[in-house]
Amino acid sequence: MKTATMHSSSSTNGASPAAGSGRATVTGGSARQAAIAAVTNYRNTTAPLDFRETPAQELFAANVFSKEKMRDRLPKAVFKSLMKTIEDGEKLDATTADVVASAMKDWAIENGATHYAHVFYPLTGLTAEKHDSFLSPNGQGSAIADFSGGQLIQGEPDGSSFPTGGIRQTFEARGYTIWDVTSPAYILENANGTTLCIPTAFVSWTGEALDKKTPVLRSMQALNKQAQRILKLFGHTDEALVSSTAGPEQEYFLIDRNFFFARPDLINAGRTLFGAKPPKGQEFDDHYFGAIPDRVLAFMLETERELLKLGIPIKTRHNEVAPGQYELAPVFESANLATDHQQLMMLTLRRVAERYGMTCLTHEKPFAGVNGSGKHVNWSLGSASQGNLLDPGDTPHENAQFLLFCAAVIRAVHKHQGLLRAVVASAGNDHRLGANEAPPAIISIFLGDQLTDVFEQIKAGGANSSLPKGTLTVGVDVLPPLPKDAGDRNRTSPFAFTGNRFEFRAVGANQSIAGPLVAMNTIVAESLDYCATKLEEATGGDPDKLNAALQDLLTQIMNDHGAVVFNGDGYSAEWHAEAEQRGLLNLKTTADALPVLKSPEVQELFAKYEVLSERELESRLETYLEQYCLTVHVEANLTLEMARTMIFPAAIRYQSELATTCANLKVVGFEFDTDTLDRVTELIKYLQDGIAALEDVLLQGEDGDLIAQANFIRDTTIPAMNFVRKYADELEGFVADDLWPLPTYQEMLFIR
Ligand code: ADP
Ligand code: MG
Repeated sequence: MKTATMHSSSSTNGASPAAGSGRATVTGGSARQAAIAAVTNYRNTTAPLDFRETPAQELFAANVFSKEKMRDRLPKAVFKSLMKTIEDGEKLDATTADVVASAMKDWAIENGATHYAHVFYPLTGLTAEKHDSFLSPNGQGSAIADFSGGQLIQGEPDGSSFPTGGIRQTFEARGYTIWDVTSPAYILENANGTTLCIPTAFVSWTGEALDKKTPVLRSMQALNKQAQRILKLFGHTDEALVSSTAGPEQEYFLIDRNFFFARPDLINAGRTLFGAKPPKGQEFDDHYFGAIPDRVLAFMLETERELLKLGIPIKTRHNEVAPGQYELAPVFESANLATDHQQLMMLTLRRVAERYGMTCLTHEKPFAGVNGSGKHVNWSLGSASQGNLLDPGDTPHENAQFLLFCAAVIRAVHKHQGLLRAVVASAGNDHRLGANEAPPAIISIFLGDQLTDVFEQIKAGGANSSLPKGTLTVGVDVLPPLPKDAGDRNRTSPFAFTGNRFEFRAVGANQSIAGPLVAMNTIVAESLDYCATKLEEATGGDPDKLNAALQDLLTQIMNDHGAVVFNGDGYSAEWHAEAEQRGLLNLKTTADALPVLKSPEVQELFAKYEVLSERELESRLETYLEQYCLTVHVEANLTLEMARTMIFPAAIRYQSELATTCANLKVVGFEFDTDTLDRVTELIKYLQDGIAALEDVLLQGEDGDLIAQANFIRDTTIPAMNFVRKYADELEGFVADDLWPLPTYQEMLFIR
């Protein structure tokens, strides 16, 4: 198959990749030198963009089969019936589907599409697509463009190679993709043609979820149901759909692709497995919010242009803390749409980076010793009539409602801290959480001083008992309007209230945000269910009893769950000690965290709200454990290979040079100081021992079930890898620069 895609435009860049595009095997000192030469000669040759030709507002959603386009192209009755499905969740009938499919096909073909693809989101966290041509032979020697409602609604990809944690083997190898009407279809452009993409859910023929999208949709439904009960207690009966909202901030690194191709570890593991800390790291804080380099800015502008065309409301861009690190954030959207858009964002970042001769790294920790990358997921809930339910507002009545929703979140996070930790667990994210970096693996909530003070008063309970009956109690009354953006920011908290939403910061840069959103929606649904039941019982339908009941409930929640609130430095050793005293979990690694998914509380939670059945949850646990084990395995094998074939040879060449010098000097009568030779020889010995030990560990293999295997990896494999790295990195500080085979941290992070 021809591969002349838009990616090939990168070969027109002034610099040709040293390692040859896509050739992963060229390594060695010469590859490193060639990479540096190529990078320093880089010239951008992509065609310049001009936003004056097509202003950004005209670009927005140009490639999306949006509501407006549907309104224009569909018969009125069909449009109305489709909106009923999209907005109120009503069933789609077959005739409507046929008309929509036909209009969608016409629109796509007008925009150059030859194929359509059902896009789905398997448990790998990646995006999968199956492409089919619109063309069908008509039996008379020619072909017609054809796309029926049936093809729009349902597809049957051969998904047998996607991980399903055992679900499908038990029954039948079939998996179906089903059109998600709430996420609009869009056109994906390529230099050689375009494809109509249809977001879908991926399920087994028994209807079990095999993907990340299905539980997001189910959890949103559960959250809506429980939120409605609360709103009803507050006298709101309009029943406008309450939807969870998400705004994910994506951190990423950019490095020149010549360096990327000179590093087998980056190519195969997405992170460096070796590399000494550079003399200049991020200590100067000179990168954060600094001026964005031209080449990077050009890349950002094109990325944003692509995203705008896809209807992704991209908003913010800036440098991040580490050199070579950046961030991109859209305006928040409904959780399901935000999740699909987030996946597209990651793909687009990678694609566009190639056009500028760079590689976008979304791994959580591509470089040891400098900041890793997270994906802060801003989360809230709201409805068309109520607006944002986590907005404190400035009237007492709204405050009371806000305080209840806020307390429900506090309760949920405290009660299900283990689950929240489990849904952000991955081999990559272990390098951030629980390692020497904020946020810590301990899940706590940052509320800020003002709100903490209000909840402290509520906890004390009686602050207002003297007020006449019928008015709002003080705990509810006193909340002053909070600034939209809480002034006191805390970067070390994994879960922070930021003025009108919570920000879940423990999510890893490479992860799908689906898992975290499913967890958030479901635990808050459970909490709202609890609160609604308590309040319904206490008031017995009498609205006058609401305030007193509310005060009692809030006091009780804060007494039971206030321990999760922490405004201090989440990074400090004192906090780790205090958190333990407070009984908070500290699940340091993926192997510690994932088994939470097996606990009866979590199983019951997901089953009760019909988000994941026991089997679906089990299949997820199995898949994620497997991914953890596989990831570390690949890394361990790479560590072994690179240490043996790149680092060890460089080290002994240098050792031999030193030894030769010593011997020669001795011959002519000099007393040569062998300190360096001694040290290098010692480090080589450790490196060799480390290689042998790691090889043993890998030969030994893991026994037992997946949890036992994950534990073995945590306790044995990873320490063995770290040992090899330690001595390899020390050798980097000794070996002659011209012999060192791998681009250094300094080169990768600072040359662009
Ligand atoms: P910061 O860097 O200060 O955290 P950013 O502006 O980078 O802030 O990102 C904040 C994110 O929070 C944006 O994506 C924004 O749209 C999102 N956000 C704002 N309000 C809400 C809300 N109600 N629900 C979900 N996300 C929200
Ligand atoms: Mg943020």
